[in-house]
Amino acid sequence: AQGLMQGKRGLIMGLANDKSIAWGIARVCHEQGAELAFTYQGEMMGKRVQPLAAELGSEIVLPCDVTDDASIDATFATLQEKWGRLDFLVHAIAFSDKNELRGRYVDTTFANFQLTMNVSIYSFTAVAQRAEKMMDQGGSMLTLTYYGAEKVMPHYNVMGVAKAGLEASVKYMAMDLGPKNIRVNALSAGPIKTLAASGIGDFRYILKWNELNSPLRRNVDQIEVGKSALYLLSDLSSGVTGETHHVDAGYHVIGMKAEDAPDI
Ligand code: NAD
Repeated sequence: AQGLMQGKRGLIMGLANDKSIAWGIARVCHEQGAELAFTYQGEMMGKRVQPLAAELGSEIVLPCDVTDDASIDATFATLQEKWGRLDFLVHAIAFSDKNELRGRYVDTTFANFQLTMNVSIYSFTAVAQRAEKMMDQGGSMLTLTYYGAEKVMPHYNVMGVAKAGLEASVKYMAMDLGPKNIRVNALSAGPIKTLAASGIGDFRYILKWNELNSPLRRNVDQIEVGKSALYLLSDLSSGVTGETHHVDAGYHVIGMKAEDAPDI
């Protein structure tokens, strides 16, 4: 059988290691026949990313720091030269100083606020500008967000503010790029133990809370996020854009868990 991603070429940004959400997405897309290129943040990351990319038969593995315009331009210049066309883009990148992912949001410094917004929101817009030029036959762009954009979650702080901005930017880009048949969506993943998540205070407790209180009574994994990404990146979702789709075992629908009330 032909895979759902047969003949499609995609760039995956944000692979750090085999725990990354980007890795779950890459594996599922590869299984369905996609041809993949990867970017990684720096030399340290490169050593871990190169062998992973090789596992999926990728020949294009490039360093790209999204705070550096020249680095983004170089990535897309190489892609243009090697592929000429791009069908999909996965943006799985966020950053904030972990000292501000505990304590109070209100104490956020301007320097970290700026850096968080730059890496976690603007970088998706910056890469979309370049990717648009390579998507002359339409395409699909996807970013990763979290429920902390919608509701106050413990320790998510300035990252919650960034994810709210990211989700809004998805809607504006969907409108801008829709006439070119380029779709722009977000996946709102439940908590998953990754390198980035390890910076969030009490993360183990957040995982446990989601496991106990979500409708499915468990957490999700990277492959489940990958399977939802497959839907949004493939033609299965040809009528869907500007959407934030939750892959969180249903946690976001819960107001209060039903259980036997204590005597009060
Ligand atoms: P991860 O640490 O594996 O991935 C984060 C990536 O961001 C890394 O590859 C890192 O190199 C990259 N990055 C950070 N700053 C960068 C920069 N300046 N230039 C280029 N790359 C940079 O962790 P992850 O959990 O897989 O995170 C991927 C995405 O998923 C993030 O947007 C994160 O907010 C989101 N997300 C994660 C969870 C979770 O619980 N893990 C839940 C919902 C959403």
